[in-house]
Amino acid sequence: MPSVTVTVRFAPSPTGRIHIGNARAALFNALFALRLGGRFVLRFDDTDRERSREDLKLAIADDLAWLGIRPDLMLSQSDRTDLYDQAAERLKAAGRLYACYETPDELERRRRRQLARGLPPIYDRAALKLTEAEHAALAAEGRRPHWRFRLDGRSVAWTDLVRGEQIVDTASLSDPVLIREDGTYLYTLPSVVDDIALGISHVIRGEDHVTNTGVQIEIFEALGGPVPAFGHYNLISTVSGEALSKRLGSLSIGSLRAAGYEPMAVASLSVLIGSAEEIHAYRSLAELAGHVDLARVSMSTAKFDPHELDTLNARLVHGLAFEAVAERLADLGIPGASGIDPGAFWDAVRPNLVTVPEAAQWWRIVVEGPQMVPPSEGEAGAAPTPADTAFLAQARAMLPPEPWDETTWGTWTKALQAATGRKGRDLFLPLRRALTGVDHGPELKKLLPLIGWRRTSARLP
Ligand code: GLU
Repeated sequence: MPSVTVTVRFAPSPTGRIHIGNARAALFNALFALRLGGRFVLRFDDTDRERSREDLKLAIADDLAWLGIRPDLMLSQSDRTDLYDQAAERLKAAGRLYACYETPDELERRRRRQLARGLPPIYDRAALKLTEAEHAALAAEGRRPHWRFRLDGRSVAWTDLVRGEQIVDTASLSDPVLIREDGTYLYTLPSVVDDIALGISHVIRGEDHVTNTGVQIEIFEALGGPVPAFGHYNLISTVSGEALSKRLGSLSIGSLRAAGYEPMAVASLSVLIGSAEEIHAYRSLAELAGHVDLARVSMSTAKFDPHELDTLNARLVHGLAFEAVAERLADLGIPGASGIDPGAFWDAVRPNLVTVPEAAQWWRIVVEGPQMVPPSEGEAGAAPTPADTAFLAQARAMLPPEPWDETTWGTWTKALQAATGRKGRDLFLPLRRALTGVDHGPELKKLLPLIGWRRTSARLP
């Protein structure tokens, strides 16, 4: 038996930048392909000409590349209208696609009448009863039809990769409109035509498409195409339960990138939330793929908590070797012409970072000294007491001579303790404040040799 190549697709509409929910769709598919040695297709669902934009296609591909996803094939539905026309003709010939002329107002009036009589408000198929003469008369009036797919009206069943046995009763649905009055296609038919043409073996998408799948399985069958396997994962909401939309800028992949998050923190969180898997930041998509199993995805909404992203990001950053960040540090001006060893600097500050770009703040502290911190951030700027000032002056006098290394801090503070009797917080905090301007931060034994004798001495009274 020929083996079926696993082929999946991510099919965004290029009407906005992708957000974490879209990334979830892309990743479930890409990881599935990765795990099974399959192919990943990026298909732009751009049949809505008014709202689709070419520049957004590039931006989406770029955001996917940032996440580590490189499609095996990229295509746009707007280039494939001929295929959809051919499929539509076949459905018409088979009596599955029929012309309707109702206006939205007429449909709404009928819907209200049905509801008033306690009937389900589904399309009554009045257009199926139109005679040839009536069709001709409507056409003569200049009315243009929209086209509906005649559903079989049966129980369509499939075994969902996430949800198990699923049944959609298409008798309870309106025959869907596949072609608008102006001849343009809605998403439903082009998606099926492409899935058949591209040999899509698995359609993995959000649970908002479950009913759609019942309809589309009928279309797959009517077109004689193989019906792919389906998996519908749960959707993401914000912590307060709000749905994510493309307008929610802060969770767009673009803004997370700009804020300096690691792609693997974003990728790990977006597919591991709302599943039985432990949430962990994996270091590569290949590693993550081994921990994403559609059968373990939950049926309830997955909540996206930005704090969790910070935690995962911090964990990844703490494990990044200098070589992995050297270029990004250079972009931040580190080490520039400072003469400071950037590797030693990275080692000193990385345990205190949530994102890599935050290294720039510590860099300014090392090179320039305490920074002005807005009073709302609290801790900085506490003026030293007279006793502290005297202590700091003594500390300056007792600075060990260079060269300095990681033992210098211990040597210096031990000598100070012996000379002043200060210990613990009283000993360390005035020094930390004088050298960095803040109460917390990287270990001073590591910062001190980076700051060096000249700068240290200048920061003490
Ligand atoms: N363009 C569709 C959407 O974004 C694709 C759905 C599907 O995967 O079939 O909802």
